[in-house]
Amino acid sequence: MIFYKTSEEVELIRQSSLLVSKTLATVAGYIKPGITTAELDTIAEEYIRDHGAVPGFKGYSGFPATLCTSVNEAVVHGLPGKRALQDGDILSIDCGVIKEGFYGDSAYTFAIGEVAPDILDLLKVTKEALYLGIEQARVGKRIGDIGYAIQHYAEKEHPYSIVRSLVGHGLGRNLHEEPEVPNFGRQGNGVKIREGLVIAIEPMINMGKKEVINSPDGWTVVTLDNLPSAHYEHTIAIGNKEADILSSFEFIEESVKKNIEIEEIIAKK
Ligand code: MG
Ligand code: MG
Repeated sequence: MIFYKTSEEVELIRQSSLLVSKTLATVAGYIKPGITTAELDTIAEEYIRDHGAVPGFKGYSGFPATLCTSVNEAVVHGLPGKRALQDGDILSIDCGVIKEGFYGDSAYTFAIGEVAPDILDLLKVTKEALYLGIEQARVGKRIGDIGYAIQHYAEKEHPYSIVRSLVGHGLGRNLHEEPEVPNFGRQGNGVKIREGLVIAIEPMINMGKKEVINSPDGWTVVTLDNLPSAHYEHTIAIGNKEADILSSFEFIEESVKKNIEIEEIIAKK
């Protein structure tokens, strides 16, 4: 059953989603070679609790951390730990919070230091695919239109692969609600999109083949061919026209920019 949201509920989900965005922006300020994913997780948890919310993933299905931190060939659900980031890595961070009973959910893939141009292209295309999917999320369209747009861009216009076994989802009082929102599909197929629908769209795009496997830690999903994977996610609400993007990459990208400027000043000294 799909729970369509009232405008008051959408505003609460917006507050939760913006808190996720600001958490990711705060974490982004610390991302550099040498920092561990566990350190980033602590920063995120403190920020969320300081802002009157609770980490949305911690304890969810037994997940032990605030962030999912997935490095390089890790697709999603990476466990924060002692691994220190290295120059040239990419790091996908997925974060959720619950505030006033409602979830927000968003993810962003970061480049650590100097990243190879072909990997930067994967990041760019994955983010663009997300926005192409969001463009399709409007009244009168169907869920399959979202997946089709994302898949076509990644697999037909670019040589990448869409992960099939992990999908986007409805959310609200629960982190995962109906409907499922696959990043692949056929035009005109699936649930009709109507006002009040709140979904997380989250393309996971692999540089190589689409197959993924679970790693021995029991959580981290990695590409079978060990090639990099990128992940971007927004929580959106369907209004009477185009989608209302409830999370935001603006704070994150400001923070990344500031970080690069600081690094350049240090490098010049
Ligand atoms: Mg997420
Ligand atoms: Mg999600």
